[in-house]
Amino acid sequence: MSNAYQLIEHNYDVVVVGAGGAGLRATFGMAQKGLKTACLTKVFPTRSHTVAAQGGMSAALGNMGQDLWQWHMYDTVKGSDWLGDQDAIEYMCREAMPAVIELEHYGVPFSRTEEGKIYQRPFGGMTTNYGEGTAQRTCAAADRTGHAILHTLYQQALRHDAEFFIEYFALDLIMDDSGACRGVVAWDLAEGTLHLFRAHQTVLATGGYGRSYFSATSAHTCTGDGNGMVLRAGLPLQDMEFTQFHPTGIYGSGCLMTEGCRGEGGYLTNSNGDRFMERYAPNAKDLASRDVVSRSMTIEIREGRGVGEHKDHIYLHLEHLGADVINERLPGIAETARIFAGVDVTKEPAPVLPTVHYNMGGIPTNYHGEVVVLKDGNPDTVIPGLMAIGEAACVSVHGANRLGSNSLLDIVVFGRAAAIRCAELVRPNSAHPATPQPAVDKILARFDGLRNAKGENPTAGLRMRMQRTMQNHAAVFRTGESMAEGIKLLEEVHAGFDHIGVTDRSLVWNSDLVETLELDNLLGCAMVSIKSAINRPESRGAHAREDYPDRDDEGWMKHTLAWLGPKSEVTIDYRPVHTYTLTNEVDYIPPKKRTY
Ligand SMILES: Cc1cc2nc3c(=O)[nH]c(=O)nc-3n(C[C@H](O)[C@H](O)[C@H](O)COP(=O)(O)OP(=O)(O)OC[C@H]3O[C@@H](n4cnc5c(N)ncnc54)[C@H](O)[C@@H]3O)c2cc1C
Repeated sequence: MSNAYQLIEHNYDVVVVGAGGAGLRATFGMAQKGLKTACLTKVFPTRSHTVAAQGGMSAALGNMGQDLWQWHMYDTVKGSDWLGDQDAIEYMCREAMPAVIELEHYGVPFSRTEEGKIYQRPFGGMTTNYGEGTAQRTCAAADRTGHAILHTLYQQALRHDAEFFIEYFALDLIMDDSGACRGVVAWDLAEGTLHLFRAHQTVLATGGYGRSYFSATSAHTCTGDGNGMVLRAGLPLQDMEFTQFHPTGIYGSGCLMTEGCRGEGGYLTNSNGDRFMERYAPNAKDLASRDVVSRSMTIEIREGRGVGEHKDHIYLHLEHLGADVINERLPGIAETARIFAGVDVTKEPAPVLPTVHYNMGGIPTNYHGEVVVLKDGNPDTVIPGLMAIGEAACVSVHGANRLGSNSLLDIVVFGRAAAIRCAELVRPNSAHPATPQPAVDKILARFDGLRNAKGENPTAGLRMRMQRTMQNHAAVFRTGESMAEGIKLLEEVHAGFDHIGVTDRSLVWNSDLVETLELDNLLGCAMVSIKSAINRPESRGAHAREDYPDRDDEGWMKHTLAWLGPKSEVTIDYRPVHTYTLTNEVDYIPPKKRTY
């Protein structure tokens, strides 16, 4: 029974859950400010998914030609299809330049120009002069930028006095009766012990939930755990209908070919050998925003112009760039294509297909990283003690569609912002209020229930059904009809979860139980995603409805909030988009038609 578990207790000023780019930047920022900081992570920090980021991080440094952060802001608002919060976007684009310089000083080995400046490449949707030219704004460490950033941030975290709890799986938030968060309960996967972490601020930096789909570029660890915890705490998730499909996942495996490929001059062709993006986005062509390129590819395939035996994918060409450029700028890509597609990109095109890549939606926050909720008519009510950053959060700088290279920026800028906010809110070493025991008991009862689940449904089978349902019914193009069918299927999977079977009862390295806990989190994310999507009768950014092809600013320029009930029922409400800026250096950018 649940009270049979002995909890090992810890007191910290701040507990950060997650050691990806967002979590590590927050962790060492907090430790640097004298806060007693713990960082919990289910995988070793440098194995966090950030390590896989390839193409780069945006900042209007202007190293390759004139650039302004105001242009970056314009592109991000337009890329978001006007669903992004403009105060947060202003903050991110303004902070981008110092963030890159700071990373360089910490030791990130950015690629260089001939004169020794940080090299910057073009990326989709990044323009100069408010959409007129192509910006070279994305700072890269070859095509291993995330690897370089993550390792540097981990070194910085070790340099400061942050304490790491590695291979600890956070189970749930400890919420008290007033609605404040008091910490988190976690399971030490190696020792098999359970831990109670008290904290004045708990920061969720648990990454995305790409694995709710069958084919995703994200790691198998991207299971929306923080989002699941928030839903179980009775709080909503925001804009979960907006899932980004990256145009160039390798056909079959889903591994990513970075947008940097097209930034360096790569292009797409159909079975006629046409560079079809010239028809869909006459100006930006292959460097149009990701949602636009993914939809164009899908149309080409649907209309019979796909390549390969089944005419079900598209070619990405790099061979014209020559081996020297490929080896210098895209070495990892050449290796990925060789391993996962058996293709030598210096000689032949790579087979690619739009693949789930990024979650724009997540835990709603303000630009300080504090979790906010719509309460008593106030859409920006702060939940005391709870913060969220990185892909787990929806701050919302990406709105309905993220621009490539804006996520590495997001995790670093808002990781730092969360550290600044915690230093303002928390007095180091102050006493903790009493821990609400019923909340802890509830967490342990759920854990114990799943550990001893003896139902007839294995986790892997239910997960596959969920992933296939999302892949087929919440895809690049969706309709009310296909989503209604998807909801029916997902409800069956949810019902199946009540009869799940976990075969391993051990507390040590029990991957069956870990995967079951992860599936629970993924299922919550999937259900609120598809229900948020069916409730939005318009097309905006990555949410492309064939039955409602137009954007409707009058009715739908607002954020979706979705709560999940115990029987998988979803309650939906909306909060306004922030249509104001923080300073008078920029004006609010009003919506207009989004063309590239
Ligand atoms: C293949 C690929 C390439 C990309 N390339 C780029 C790029 O070039 N530029 C760009 O801007 N963006 C890129 N992105 C997006 C970007 O990499 C991610 O959005 C970003 O790295 C997410 O960082 P994060 O810190 O929020 O989460 P992650 O890096 O995913 O870290 C999550 C952390 O949370 C921990 N965690 C999760 N659940 C639990 C739990 N229950 N208990 C304890 N710990 C937990 C994990 O252990 C991990 O440490 C790319 C994405 C993919 C998939």
